[in-house]
Amino acid sequence: MIATAHLFIGAAIGSCVENPFLALGLGITSHLVTDALPHWDLGSFDKKERKEKLKNYLIIFSDVILGSILILFLANLAEKAIALNIILGAMGAILIDVIDNSPFWSYKLRQLPFFKQIHACHSWAHHKNKWQLPFKYRFVGLITQIVTILISLI
Ligand SMILES: [Zn+2]
Repeated sequence: MIATAHLFIGAAIGSCVENPFLALGLGITSHLVTDALPHWDLGSFDKKERKEKLKNYLIIFSDVILGSILILFLANLAEKAIALNIILGAMGAILIDVIDNSPFWSYKLRQLPFFKQIHACHSWAHHKNKWQLPFKYRFVGLITQIVTILISLI
């Protein structure tokens, strides 16, 4: 899923729990669950379908910044006790992508125990489960994310 969808799901989960550690843990868990849903993002397809690396990094960076600004705006509207959980849930929801998809450190981290298992789970959710869509149906994957974001706002 795109970062904005993950952030909104994590924030929604964080707004529903009282314990900040639970918000963070459920946010992390939500990442793998929602990545297993049919979706489209730049990491979901083979390398031959991702040729324009600079353009892709700009899209991903914009997605993370825009999603983070929206979450901070929503957290600012919430009560202070809930605001922290909203932010922790959102941070937890993108933590696996930060760890496992960075061009700067992910390749090296994936060689280490624990991070190797995280990568295996993340990779399964993205590529190997039976619900993922072929590239030509990527528009359906955008719809699932729009619906997910709208549900998160309720
Ligand atoms: Zn992911």
